[in-house]
Amino acid sequence: MGDPSGGQARMISFEEAEERILAYVVPVTGTEVVGLEQAPGRILAEAVVARINVPNHANSAMDGYAVASADLVGTGQVRLRVVFDLAAGGFYSSGPGRGEAVRIMTGAPIPPGADTVVIQEVCRREGEWVEVTCGIPRGEHVRDAGEDMRVGMEVLEAGKRLRPGDIGVLAAQGIDQVTVFRRIRVGIFSTGNEVVEVAGTLRPGQVYDSNRAGLKAALGVMGCDVIDFGIVGDDLAAIESVLQRAAHEVDVIISTGGVSVGDYDLVRTALANKGEIGFWQVAMKPGKPQAYGRLGGAVFFGLPGNPVSGLTVFHLLIRPALFRLMGGRSGSRKRIWATFTGQWTKKHSRKEFLRAILDLTGEGPKVKLTGPQGSGLMTSLARANAFMVLPEGPVTVSSGDRVEVWMMDNE
Ligand code: AMP
Ligand code: MG
Repeated sequence: MGDPSGGQARMISFEEAEERILAYVVPVTGTEVVGLEQAPGRILAEAVVARINVPNHANSAMDGYAVASADLVGTGQVRLRVVFDLAAGGFYSSGPGRGEAVRIMTGAPIPPGADTVVIQEVCRREGEWVEVTCGIPRGEHVRDAGEDMRVGMEVLEAGKRLRPGDIGVLAAQGIDQVTVFRRIRVGIFSTGNEVVEVAGTLRPGQVYDSNRAGLKAALGVMGCDVIDFGIVGDDLAAIESVLQRAAHEVDVIISTGGVSVGDYDLVRTALANKGEIGFWQVAMKPGKPQAYGRLGGAVFFGLPGNPVSGLTVFHLLIRPALFRLMGGRSGSRKRIWATFTGQWTKKHSRKEFLRAILDLTGEGPKVKLTGPQGSGLMTSLARANAFMVLPEGPVTVSSGDRVEVWMMDNE
């Protein structure tokens, strides 16, 4: 966990936080076997190796005539006798011989003796004869056996999150069950005397608990099992108690609120009392107050209470760590340079993540801000599809400037 006192004393850079958070998490090792219908979004625990060739037989890519290319040398036309009519699903094993052709449909296996398919558009059929133009290259419109997947070849790597295309690959292999990592269990709770259930009535001074709902949605999209510990008031004993309960049940605990330096910011104290605290101030905006540590076997992530700050930290720092914990191969961040429209001046020294709309236009990537950027403005995050990232130190950006943009849907 590193040196706790060192962690407490200073604000660390975004990059250092990123590294330390990733270092906290140990990928799960437990696996389960699921059917293809349950597999999308799950993380493959073992590589998948092709056990059959796909296609299994050389077959026709077009409707036409299967011929021996040796019959089509030279120029001009040649007349071949049609000896069989072969549709997809059929099979023919006795020809064509020289001077013969087999009428063939897309997907039908190339019969022995043929090595080329001549598309029907360039043939002239007359009864049992077909007239074909010579000079067609050998192998044209033939899909070779194993052209897509060859026996023994690794078709899906371990650590891959399964997408629809991957499910198609498994199905093409005749594989109807796969070994995936078990789901991770994430316990969440909100803190704050002012925070109330969304289904409740709002009295003066209260706010609906938007953090927990947003977080639950984000975790659901990732495929985590969420265990909801509700809302906990600003009470040290209550926070300690929920932390201890959660630590026994989950892989990860995520809380929101109560981590900044205020009279009621008790999450850090509770964590220090009941577990180990790592660090808590990150030089980023929004999202400076955070708390990381461990409780028993669980990793603890304490997010700031401001709804935009909390979800921003989740997107940027927590999600990549969770993905790693889930057994996923951590991909690099999706980032791009884009042309900025607008005006923004930043005076503080922290790295800034502005909520932005990235548009991939025909003239290249363009970006603008979603509007005012206050850390309480949830609509600024809801409208965004990306973060515009400004480096440490004071900086002004204006229309036409090239700026760095990070995609929001990064894993
Ligand atoms: P805190 O980090 O606890 O100091 O909270 C910072 C701000 O975020 C305060 O204005 C809180 O009322 C607000 N806040 C904290 N938790 C939530 C929550 N779960 N839903 C909505 N707003 C919250
Ligand atoms: Mg609070």
